[in-house]
Amino acid sequence: MGDCIFCKLANGEIPTEMVYEDDFVAAFKDLNPQAPVHILVVPKKHYNNILDVENGDDIIAKIYSAINVIAKKENIDKSGFRVITNCGEDAGQTVMHMHFHIIAGRKLGDKIV
Ligand code: AMP
Ligand code: ZN
Repeated sequence: MGDCIFCKLANGEIPTEMVYEDDFVAAFKDLNPQAPVHILVVPKKHYNNILDVENGDDIIAKIYSAINVIAKKENIDKSGFRVITNCGEDAGQTVMHMHFHIIAGRKLGDKIV
């Protein structure tokens, strides 16, 4: 996807410090952190959001496997963390490349669910 910022970050076209990387998934720190730990986990391939993931595609499993590794690496596995993906306008999705927020490092307080 020509001018997608997360495509460029995930595939090294724009240099960034990777928190995690494998053949399919990349993770980097959020520019505007909402907690002491705020990491974005993204597929290297472009999907607008989870609505683009077709039946039989295992990218979500790959992303959650990466989240498991990242949680241990960042030492938030014991204290806990939240994973959020915004999908579409009402959810407030601002970057149209599927991403999963890992939020941690403080009591996360009020929840919607
Ligand atoms: P969302 O509202 O779920 O679409 O989240 C988009 C997130 O991407 C926000 O938390 C932004 O702070 C973050 N963001 C936007 N541009 C960048 C960037 N260049 N590097 C890191 N994070 C970014
Ligand atoms: Zn993209």
